[in-house]
Amino acid sequence: MAKKVEIIGAGVIGLTLAKELARSGIDVAVYDSKSRVSDNTAKASGIFSKSGLARIDVDWKAAQQNTLNGAVLYAGKETFKVDTGGTVAYILDRGIFAELCAKEAKEAGAEILLGKRFTREQILEAKRDVDTILVGADGAVSTVASAVGFPEIKEYILTYKAEYDGAWVPDLHKAEVVFSTSSPRFFGWTVPYSERVLEVGIGISSSSRRNSTGAFGSFVQSAFAQQRVGNARKRAGYASIIPLSTRKRTVIGNVLLVGDAAGQVKATTGGGIIFGAACARIAAKSIVGNIKHGKPLSLYEKEWRRAYGLDLKLHKAVHAYYSSVGERGFASMLRIMNVMGFNKFLGKYGDMDRPSLIIKRMFLRNLVK
Ligand SMILES: Cc1cc2nc3c(=O)[nH]c(=O)nc-3n(C[C@H](O)[C@H](O)[C@H](O)COP(=O)(O)OP(=O)(O)OC[C@H]3O[C@@H](n4cnc5c(N)ncnc54)[C@H](O)[C@@H]3O)c2cc1C
Repeated sequence: MAKKVEIIGAGVIGLTLAKELARSGIDVAVYDSKSRVSDNTAKASGIFSKSGLARIDVDWKAAQQNTLNGAVLYAGKETFKVDTGGTVAYILDRGIFAELCAKEAKEAGAEILLGKRFTREQILEAKRDVDTILVGADGAVSTVASAVGFPEIKEYILTYKAEYDGAWVPDLHKAEVVFSTSSPRFFGWTVPYSERVLEVGIGISSSSRRNSTGAFGSFVQSAFAQQRVGNARKRAGYASIIPLSTRKRTVIGNVLLVGDAAGQVKATTGGGIIFGAACARIAAKSIVGNIKHGKPLSLYEKEWRRAYGLDLKLHKAVHAYYSSVGERGFASMLRIMNVMGFNKFLGKYGDMDRPSLIIKRMFLRNLVK
């Protein structure tokens, strides 16, 4: 039976798993090719739902930059605004958040070894060690997944984002999302960091065979973006990638995958921390069960799919819908939602992470009417 755990990837999800295991007295080491855990974290945004953060069990307060009380969606001439009337999400500095996760993992007793890149050969060698459970927490382009032969993720969102200083920020507490079917079909977003600093980003499907940097260049020239950042100074920009579906398998023998490596990401927004961290906690429980009580590691696969599989599928279905209807179809849908007052419903009963809860609340409301 295995005695120790090696995690490849000291992103937030690998660090969350390491902390949980160390707290249960498991011998755990996390490896990363980066020299600091905060390196490269600026590639992603830092929006976290309030309810999700409450479940994540990290003291994140020192990373807070701003709060959100809703969002505005645009498609064609249609605008759909959701206002919750209070804080629904936090915007965190991803670098500081990663450092806080690393601090908590270390304090719990996990070993964090930076500057160590695992090659395919080293991964296969670690897999052969019967004393070790190997975890791939190595992100969307997982070397662990490809070396061990996990099923592929076929579609990704290619992203590009940049921060602008001296921008016009229309609402300090709302994120904005723009849907467009101009070529390539994309969604763009803005995230307000302060009254003068705005993040602008874009996501396109990997199936479009275009690059996100070029698509971003066109988006920034649009009237929408020019109004916000036309006179602002661009800080560094970053291209990255988001998996659009979960892998068909996430456990093979003594190897398991968590976080982006497993595709545990909301296909609607690309948010991956809340689900990834929740799945990491399930992984920790299964690993402890295996090492201490000889239970099968495959329980992880069953448990995380039972807990979050439906919600991740619902996000995928919404993504597939808005990708297929095009801008006019999406604008019509927003119009209908406005007429039905669905924005007010979402403002009151919405949940950024769990669409299954929104559906339940809709049924319950109708039942008690
Ligand atoms: C533009 C963009 C915006 C986003 N916005 C949000 C958001 O607002 N909210 C949200 O919740 N999520 C967001 N996400 C998604 C979120 O960033 C990811 O879900 C999250 O970072 C996944 O964490 P992870 O630990 O699984 O992987 P990662 O953060 O990718 O970490 C993987 C780590 O593995 C290391 N690694 C990889 N290969 C090796 C190797 N062979 N050897 C050693 N180390 C290796 C890497 O250096 C890296 O540190 C966004 C993503 C993008 C691209």
